[in-house]
Formats: sequence, structure tokens, C-alpha cells
Amino acid sequence: MVKLPDERPFRARARQRERGFTLVELLVCLAIIGILISLAAPNLRAAGESAQRTGCESNQRLIRQELVQFQLVQRRAPTGTSGEILQELVDAGLLDSRPKCPAGGDYEIRQDAGGQWKVSCSVHGALGE
Ligand SMILES: [Zn+2]
Repeated sequence: MVKLPDERPFRARARQRERGFTLVELLVCLAIIGILISLAAPNLRAAGESAQRTGCESNQRLIRQELVQFQLVQRRAPTGTSGEILQELVDAGLLDSRPKCPAGGDYEIRQDAGGQWKVSCSVHGALGE
């Protein structure tokens, strides 16, 4: 069987060829998107960790300030475990609720020999002292 030449005008043939992407074009696009995501992911994660650390630091600073405030108002130091001390600050109306580390850490509160309050996080350690 003899193949007849394509009688359609050139533009019609060209339009049919341009109807979609070829497999190679799609793979190149996916590879470029993959490279961009792999470049952006570490930066996004680092920014998230930095934000959590900043939030934790401000919580620790707030707890230390409210511990001093508690002593000034109540004329005694809050006692008990770290959780009980935080609850005392909430019960005294100094904190709206028990602060939580954005990364899920627990706060440990203790008083050093000089009477200075030390607050640290089980994830981030002591920040902003
Ligand atoms: Zn923390």
C-alpha cells in the first residue's frame, strides 16, 4: 500500500503535533520541580525550627518574669514540681494557661543557690537567660 502525502496545510499539521507535552518534556519538568523542592525543603525546616526556638525562649522568659512577680505579690516562693509551680502561676492569675514548648518539650523550673529562677526546656535547654 502506498502512503499518500499529507494533503492538509502545514499549520494544521503543526497544530496536531503541538497538542500535548511529550513524555520527555514532562519528565524534565518533574525533575526541575523535584530539584527546586529539594533545595527549598531544608530552608523551610530550618525556619520552622528557628520559630519554635524563639517561641520557647519567650515562654521561658515569661515564666521567669512571672515567678519573680509571684514572689513579690505572694511574699513566698511557689513550691512543688515544675508542673505544680506552673499551675500555681496560673492559679494566681499570672499566666492564662500553662505554657507549652512549640516543639513539645517540658519546662523544668528550679531555683539556684542565689535564689535565681532557672527555667529550661527538655528540647531546647535554657534559653534567653
Ligand atoms: Zn522548648
